[in-house]
Amino acid sequence: MALAGVLGYPVGHSRSPAMMNAAFLECGLDWNYVKLPVPPALFAETVRALPASGYAGVNVTIPHKLAAFELADEASPAAEAIGAANTLSFANGRIRAENTDAGGLLEALEEPVAGRRALVLGAGGAGRAAAWALREAGAEVSVWNRTPRRAAALAEELGITHAAAPGPTEVLVNATSIGLTPALEEDEALAALGLAGTPPPETVVDLVYGERPTPLWTWASRGDGRVVGGLEVLVRQGALSFELWTGQPAPVDAMRHAVSPSGA
Ligand code: NAP
Repeated sequence: MALAGVLGYPVGHSRSPAMMNAAFLECGLDWNYVKLPVPPALFAETVRALPASGYAGVNVTIPHKLAAFELADEASPAAEAIGAANTLSFANGRIRAENTDAGGLLEALEEPVAGRRALVLGAGGAGRAAAWALREAGAEVSVWNRTPRRAAALAEELGITHAAAPGPTEVLVNATSIGLTPALEEDEALAALGLAGTPPPETVVDLVYGERPTPLWTWASRGDGRVVGGLEVLVRQGALSFELWTGQPAPVDAMRHAVSPSGA
């Protein structure tokens, strides 16, 4: 049996084990994917011990994405450019870093973005990956952030535009943590994101997901355009990790079913 898992702190809430084990089962692979709650102080030594314990690779989540990139012996162009990794692969005594959050977003979009205006809300880790992915795919990307200097720094680094306030766009990506707190009402969420009184654009991606529809999802669903939820992005980044580790196409439908609120 091969092992894989997700390192985070905390990681108890993660839906990745259900999703990835459903994928292994669907493909008839004798793999097991586990939660690995690891505090930052133990991250490096834990990762280095994993290959000898039978692990082929791991996902990493908050707060380890930067540390994962720094620990790796080699990195993909995406991980290198974003400066963070959500996937590590162990082979031939080496640790390789990849960032499938970027590719996962583009796969979840399922539509070309080249030449279209894209606005990323948030300049944290997810915002960084989203902005880089959209720019690589040819979109005209701008980034807005609650703390403007972070957006300005990211915009300068990636050669994209810093939006002082959210303006008209064709593709909107929420990469802030707004919506994680269930108590937040839709009008409060829209106000916090500078979207109060604006209609939803053609395509909205809300990276945030939870037990209930997020405020941004509810707002976007009233428009005429497409809405892509955070669970779909989770599935697509997981599918890319699966393919890296196993070399096989990922069973995306089985993974989607495992994380859907009515599935599992
Ligand atoms: P992070 O690095 O901590 O960044 C948080 C971002 O949210 C920052 O831009 C922050 O702005 C902003 N923010 C926080 N509170 C805010 C508020 N009250 N009003 C406006 N902006 C606020 O987190 P992250 O790793 O980028 O993750 C962001 C979200 O994306 C999380 O909800 C995470 O679960 C989700 N995510 C989903 C997937 C997926 O596969 N679906 C993958 C990755 C991340 P400041 O700079 O001003 O603090």
